[in-house]
Amino acid sequence: MEYEPVIGLEVHAQLLTRSKIFCGCSTAFGEEPNTLTCPVCTGQPGSLPVLNQRAVEFAIKLGLATSCRIEPYSIFARKNYFYPDLPKGYQISMYERPLATEGFIDIVTDGKTKRIKLIRIHMEEDAGKLKHGETPETAAFSYVDFNRTGVPLVEIVSGPDMRSPQEAGDYLRKLRAILQYLEICTGNMEEGSFRCDANISMRPRGQKEFGTRTELKNMNSFRHVEKALEYEIKRQIGVLESGEEVIQETRLYDAAQGITVSMRGKEEAHDYRYFPDPDLVPLKVDESWVEEIRRTLPELPTQKKDRFVQEYQIPEYDAEILTATKVMANYYEESVRLFPEPKAVSNWIMGDFLKELKRDEREIDQCPVTPGHLAEMLKMIKAGTISGKIAKDVFEEMYRSGGRPEKIVKEKGWVQILDTGEIEGAIQRVIEANPKQLEEYRGGKEKLFGFFVGEVMKQTKGKANPKLVNELLTKKLKR
Ligand SMILES: [Zn+2]
Repeated sequence: MEYEPVIGLEVHAQLLTRSKIFCGCSTAFGEEPNTLTCPVCTGQPGSLPVLNQRAVEFAIKLGLATSCRIEPYSIFARKNYFYPDLPKGYQISMYERPLATEGFIDIVTDGKTKRIKLIRIHMEEDAGKLKHGETPETAAFSYVDFNRTGVPLVEIVSGPDMRSPQEAGDYLRKLRAILQYLEICTGNMEEGSFRCDANISMRPRGQKEFGTRTELKNMNSFRHVEKALEYEIKRQIGVLESGEEVIQETRLYDAAQGITVSMRGKEEAHDYRYFPDPDLVPLKVDESWVEEIRRTLPELPTQKKDRFVQEYQIPEYDAEILTATKVMANYYEESVRLFPEPKAVSNWIMGDFLKELKRDEREIDQCPVTPGHLAEMLKMIKAGTISGKIAKDVFEEMYRSGGRPEKIVKEKGWVQILDTGEIEGAIQRVIEANPKQLEEYRGGKEKLFGFFVGEVMKQTKGKANPKLVNELLTKKLKR
């Protein structure tokens, strides 16, 4: 039987406010444990929460950017559970009345656009962090850091609309891009400012009803999410094919082994005993405020992509990749401003450049090649100072050392040979060294032409102008 995965994602994103959601403590990351706390975020008796207006504004921004309906009336509720990183014994969250509902995000997978529904976006507070002792003396202890307690979060719940790990990855990348374009979340998965849980079930292809799902946690990168889903697809198919039933449960991804392991039976909503938080009044959002916020929205990934296609006349495929992150889009536009041949710039960024960045896992603005350097190199190719082939070496050197292309070319002596005499000399040497191939070529084995081109390029250390080599070689070999 052929099975189809049904995937829905729940993303928690930390909002980039300076203070926490219900108190004035700083949200800074990486400070000394328990230095950013107060009676409110540590749940001291008698303390009262006060809602951070900026956090609401950010959440509304996200709602608008994902075409959600902004609810005029929403309610903060208490989600009750015990855990040592939760000093109050409950988390303040939204339950029955979330802030934003019924939105969507368009993703592009394998060139096809697909709409992923958003069921809801709600606000809540983050919990603290447990740190387990790592030395022999501390191994028996766990430590708790409340600095993160009360950092504002939005939870974005998608519909069960994704049908492959790749679609899930594309959805996450697009959602993160939107958050980053809005400048309301760093999107840093390693630091935990963008976290994802995945619900996944399998069903026979063609069947309407969903199968029993499991929830996957503990995935700290896009790669992990895709890997965990791939593993879970295989595991669930195995369970179903052996005639057993998938158990509804929460499973943890083990990155070291690339597997998921059972963590606990799935809790139901009623286990949390939700009720409206009596310390907080319902959140009423004026339509005029929503409109005011709407006017501050920046150009978003999809709009930018459309504009790139229009303005720069580049293929949609290029535009999709170039607008995948805001820094990449800015980089591209700056480069095109300095070297106004949009397709040439796009080709360079999407070729060797992206490969290097992917390998080093860094963003384009974290590498030493500036748009100025890239433009300067493209100008040198255009002027014929360097060949396209040499440009690849120049680029590698730029990427490694951060040097200016002109300086690199001068230092390495990589200037392109346009002197026909010099190229003819090289051709002569190649012909003399390969009499057998010459005879075969003249005897009709024409595909040997490539061999001669290669040899001439070797002779000139890749610096000969390829067009001239072709022309001169054609003449010489015919004789
Ligand atoms: Zn506090």
